[in-house]
Amino acid sequence: MHELSIATQLVALATEAVESASETGRVRSVRVRVGELSGVVVDALEFAWDMAVADTRCEGAGLIIERVAGRVRCESCGAESEVGHPPTFGCPRCPGATTAVVAGRELDLLSLDLDDPSVPLPRPEPAHDAPHS
Ligand SMILES: [Zn+2]
Repeated sequence: MHELSIATQLVALATEAVESASETGRVRSVRVRVGELSGVVVDALEFAWDMAVADTRCEGAGLIIERVAGRVRCESCGAESEVGHPPTFGCPRCPGATTAVVAGRELDLLSLDLDDPSVPLPRPEPAHDAPHS
């Protein structure tokens, strides 16, 4: 299950941060940004989160997910458009034109809310699984 490994990685990063900050601090919530084209199923990630936090310093922490819409830019006319649901990657103005994804592949750890004062955020290693499936 793809989302469980992502949740486990997020928990590991958050745990590392809280351990470096404090002996006893706990994580109250973790905010992440998930693009619609990242290949991450938000419902599955939320489900996996509850498993991943068990018996860690993140136990009981909430997962706050910011979703980012998928967007493409047309390489012919430069127009940006949302890919929509289900995603379509063409330009609405130029049939057949090539487009490039400009947003929606994010999978970033944004911030941690700790019992203790804020700590430096570790740089996450975002998953680079291709969303084309
Ligand atoms: Zn176009």
